[in-house]
Amino acid sequence: MTRNRRVKTIFAATPTIEGAGVHLKRAFGYHQVPQLDPFLMLDDFHTSNPDEYLAGFPWHPHRGIETITYILEGLVEHGDSMGNKGVIGAGDVQWMTAGSGIIHQEMPQESPTGTMWGFQLWANLPASQKMMPPRYRDVRAADIPLVTLDNGVTAGIISGELNGVRGPVREIVIDPVLMDITMPADTDFKMPVKDGYTVVIYVLSGTARFDDQPGKMIAPQHAVLYGKNGDQVSIKTADQPVRFLFLSGKPLDEPVAWGGPIVMNSQEELRIAFEEYRQGTFVK
Ligand code: MN
Repeated sequence: MTRNRRVKTIFAATPTIEGAGVHLKRAFGYHQVPQLDPFLMLDDFHTSNPDEYLAGFPWHPHRGIETITYILEGLVEHGDSMGNKGVIGAGDVQWMTAGSGIIHQEMPQESPTGTMWGFQLWANLPASQKMMPPRYRDVRAADIPLVTLDNGVTAGIISGELNGVRGPVREIVIDPVLMDITMPADTDFKMPVKDGYTVVIYVLSGTARFDDQPGKMIAPQHAVLYGKNGDQVSIKTADQPVRFLFLSGKPLDEPVAWGGPIVMNSQEELRIAFEEYRQGTFVK
């Protein structure tokens, strides 16, 4: 028997300035730990003012997490301590597993459309993998399958599976689902989820009701966190379509010690990480 999940908490994204002066909206982050476990942070960069994004994120380290960048509009140039270099553009995803440590920069370029719109999601790594070798999974827009269901719902599948179609990002320890889903107006969509996994939705445009309880329609720039019990979420639109990011992952249930771009299990591990960064021995 399927059991529908209930919405537990709704977070309004809050304006935040990060990096060298990038204006963004933070859907959730440090102050919400551990509610979104295994996810740590979701930032929404959406502006048509170059002064709000061109400063970018100059050289900085990461350890103990995965940073997932998904671009809807605009260009981000990146480079790292291992000599990797590239540009990600509209529809592309960079899934970076920082593991034991990477030093990189992420620099948005002047957008050809005039607008920069993208997301950065941070997913935690379990203690057993925090010091794994760093790894990239770069996924081009063309390699993200788009599934269209009978009711007109479409899903771009970055990770996870819907209707027998599996996304290209696989074999990640938190067993993540990451999809970009659009529903037409007056539509009902039931999404299977794993019981006990964290499920969160971030609304990009339009409105919808995200469970089968009487309640209000949720507007863009809100994150919807579900209760842990149940194996399905039930979403309904009314007179407008809706577009949202759908996220799910297996909770780690481990202590979180978070210091800026480094997330470990203990303060001692954080101290060591920053000490190594100062001494130039951070990258393994
Ligand atoms: Mn970074």
